[in-house]
Amino acid sequence: MPNLNPEITTFLSGQPLPMYIGGRWTEAINRATFETRDPGNGTVLARVAAGDAADVAAAVAAAQTAFQESGWATMPPNDRAVILHRLADLITKHQDLLAEIESLDVGKPRSQAAAFDVPHAAQTFRYYADLAVHARRREPIALSGFEARTVRVPYGACGFIFPWNFPFLLVGWGVAPALAAGNTVVIKPAEETPLSTLYFAKLAEAAGVPPGVINVVTGLGDPAGAALARHPGLKRMSFTGSPEVGRLIAESCGRNLVPVKLELGGKGAAVVFDDVNVETVAGALAAAVTLNAGQVCCTATRWLVHEKIRDEFVKKVTATLGGMKIGYGANPDTNLGPVVSEKQRARVLGYLDKGVKAGATALLAGGPAVVSGFEHGYYVKPALLTGDPDNICAREEIFGPVAYLMTFNDEEQAVELVNRSAYGLANSVWSSSLDRATRVAERLVAGNSWINAHNLFAHGLPYGGCNLSGCGGGVLGPDTLSDYLRNQTVARPLA
Ligand code: NAD
Repeated sequence: MPNLNPEITTFLSGQPLPMYIGGRWTEAINRATFETRDPGNGTVLARVAAGDAADVAAAVAAAQTAFQESGWATMPPNDRAVILHRLADLITKHQDLLAEIESLDVGKPRSQAAAFDVPHAAQTFRYYADLAVHARRREPIALSGFEARTVRVPYGACGFIFPWNFPFLLVGWGVAPALAAGNTVVIKPAEETPLSTLYFAKLAEAAGVPPGVINVVTGLGDPAGAALARHPGLKRMSFTGSPEVGRLIAESCGRNLVPVKLELGGKGAAVVFDDVNVETVAGALAAAVTLNAGQVCCTATRWLVHEKIRDEFVKKVTATLGGMKIGYGANPDTNLGPVVSEKQRARVLGYLDKGVKAGATALLAGGPAVVSGFEHGYYVKPALLTGDPDNICAREEIFGPVAYLMTFNDEEQAVELVNRSAYGLANSVWSSSLDRATRVAERLVAGNSWINAHNLFAHGLPYGGCNLSGCGGGVLGPDTLSDYLRNQTVARPLA
């Protein structure tokens, strides 16, 4: 293992790493464990408590008790905001440490985690803490013959299941609005990447979040995640991950009539018109498809390039992709870290194989990469395929540094190709004509259409998907806070 920050060595020393339930650090009731690995060198980072339905039941019970008794749900929003700002301060104070943990567990370049994942999460807590202070919790309804108002109150215990690509950032996106509104939460992080969520619980404890308000159950998707999704004690559920598991979560929530947010996969397109600076756009799309080793739900993986600039674009983009510095996440010059696991690497390589067998041409072959000194890491070279728009690699989410190039010659064709996708998360349009870019952007069926950029996230800019990419209101927007406040009317007839 590389030299670690001493604080991380201490954090990882108490193995198996315990879960956090009701303000206590605890083993799994059945004492089971699982291991989490460093994708950069394949070694085991830690053994972690593997919770199941019994641990989930304890965590939901703790969240329910905290909702009723800790004062979190009823305290003035300003007081909750003070605690959440303190939590954000602690995240900021531990930014380098958290970035190191995230890089170790996910494989991503530490510099990216330090520049984006961690500060963005801190900002999410600040944004929702401030928004909640100003939320209207009692609003009169103007009605003749009645005195009436709407009252908005938190729901209760809310469940969250997260994937492994942005574990820390997504915890912020998910739980910050729920907590700011006064709910209590049970979090199930991905089994590949539980570490930063456990560290988050430590920081929440230090910030003075009352016991039971935040609970973390580590464990496998089934049983831990499945038990959480079907627990009848939850009042809301949120799931971020694959559409396949999203369906299972929705089925469980449907049975309990629990509202659910689903933030699922994507197959984002970039439409590149012939009036762009080709070098700039090639650089931006190469960066987008290799961000986090391509494990980004909304990134641009289908590149629709106007046929007039196709050759120039291919020349520039293959040079940029081929020149990426593949390496260990802690190395400052690494642009492209490993994918998260051996399973994920096999998935990416399998798709390349299937795509080519189905008739695609590899403009850049990709394949496994070997990094000197890190031979057991899960490294993959970037790949660029081209061919039929119905090729498996043009349709399905690969979740690796692989793009699929297609050409078009007019707006109609570009729109038709983008909207063929079963997904609907995010697309981008690149053109120096803002009229054209806006016109096309509005016709693309997805939760997000970006212009002359890809992967745009801002607090206050709602982010979510449609079709296979999810439903339930999304995240990051001002309305996300409202999603965690239950509306109730109080009315009396006037004599
Ligand atoms: P996944 O669906 O396999 O797992 C996600 C989470 O679900 C993990 O915590 C896992 O343990 C849990 N899980 C697995 N089986 C379960 C079950 N039967 N019941 C309950 N929980 C279960 O997804 P992944 O491979 O971790 O992540 C990649 C996927 O996530 C991609 O499709 C990606 O696009 C998507 N994603 C979407 C967003 C978004 O905001 N839309 C963000 C990040 C990732």
